[in-house]
Amino acid sequence: MSQPESSSAANAGFNTRAVHAGQAFEPRTGAVVPPVHFSSTYAQDGIGGLRAGYEYGRGTNPTRDALQEQLAALEGGSHAFSFSSGLAAEDSMIRALTRPGDHIVLGNDAYGGTYRLISRVLGEWGIGNTPVDMSNLDAVAKAVAAGGSNGGAAGGKTQLVWVETPSNPMMKITDIAALAKVAHDAGALLVVDNTFASPYLQNPLALGADVVVHSTTKYIGGHSDVVGGAIIVNDPELAEKIGFVQFAVGAVSGPMDAFLTTRGLKTLGVRMDRHSDNAQAVAEWLLQRPEVEVVLYPGLPSHPGHELAKKQMKKFGGMISVQFKGGEAAARKVAESTSVFTLAESLGGIESLMNYPSEMTHASVKGTELAVPENLIRLSCGIEDVEDLIADLEQAFARIETGS
Ligand SMILES: *Cc1c(COP(=O)(O)O)cnc(C)c1O
Repeated sequence: MSQPESSSAANAGFNTRAVHAGQAFEPRTGAVVPPVHFSSTYAQDGIGGLRAGYEYGRGTNPTRDALQEQLAALEGGSHAFSFSSGLAAEDSMIRALTRPGDHIVLGNDAYGGTYRLISRVLGEWGIGNTPVDMSNLDAVAKAVAAGGSNGGAAGGKTQLVWVETPSNPMMKITDIAALAKVAHDAGALLVVDNTFASPYLQNPLALGADVVVHSTTKYIGGHSDVVGGAIIVNDPELAEKIGFVQFAVGAVSGPMDAFLTTRGLKTLGVRMDRHSDNAQAVAEWLLQRPEVEVVLYPGLPSHPGHELAKKQMKKFGGMISVQFKGGEAAARKVAESTSVFTLAESLGGIESLMNYPSEMTHASVKGTELAVPENLIRLSCGIEDVEDLIADLEQAFARIETGS
């Protein structure tokens, strides 16, 4: 029998890496799917005599290692770190890369939980923040140069520039390569939250970003059955700092969570193709509807970020936001009238979900400058048959008209 070896070669195609990186068969039994290692500790052959480098589960675990290897191979990074949630990943990474008095410039439509972590938790420890429109590079450069505000030391050094593209839920597109230059010119690092695009559609490290963040709860896990997060970098020095905090703080993913995430990640490419194709068709349908004020989907030529998205993304993803002419009442009616789309937080699973951000995912930023319009719903288009998705929306839209 051939020796187990994971085909994670950087020149293999995306789907080949997704299926094989970190997934070598188990040498003792030949099990094609590597077993899940639940053991919290490892026998030592004499004091300090480790058999395969494994000592204690918070530090390293073979199932988590397999996922980390797979994630690094798919984002084109040298190192990946898997955490118990997206926010746990963000928290450990920010602590590794900033100190009290430092400053973070982030998008003014950042994920609500990210803003809450940075402003209300890390703000108490002296980390300042300035939210800006990330698609306006002049405004970003000004905020980066101005330094600390909102809790940080006045004029505190900007260490991190933080962007989501496409952003959530306003679906703004930011030029990652241009933003990397703005950050680097000021001696800051560029962090890209790549949750919405997934590594199949967009690889920020290749465009000049320093750190990639994922909520693996979303497209990477892909089946709405596991919560997790990841950080990927392509620099040994950054990896050393983040790896130390991952170990010292301990917000690691457990073995079962790591296994489920790995299993989901193997099919990311085929799922993203279907998510993107379904969303494109739904967005084009929405555009024709008289009830709709605006459709926010980067795959539409009318979207202000369309050309840029074409340049830095492979396809346009499964997320759409819609604003209704009938205001908040119409948005709420549609949100509560579908049956194929389930009204729920989160996104990126194989099943279609609908979200009313101003009261759900983004309730924590209500009343701040990150507040989301009240006539907006966000769709996470699943992999169901697109005719059924459109029929479901059509019957929900009919209820706005009759008001029943
Ligand atoms: C969900 C999400 C997060 C947070 O991840 P959790 O796994 O829920 O902790 C961060 N960023 C974006 C864009 C998200 O959608």
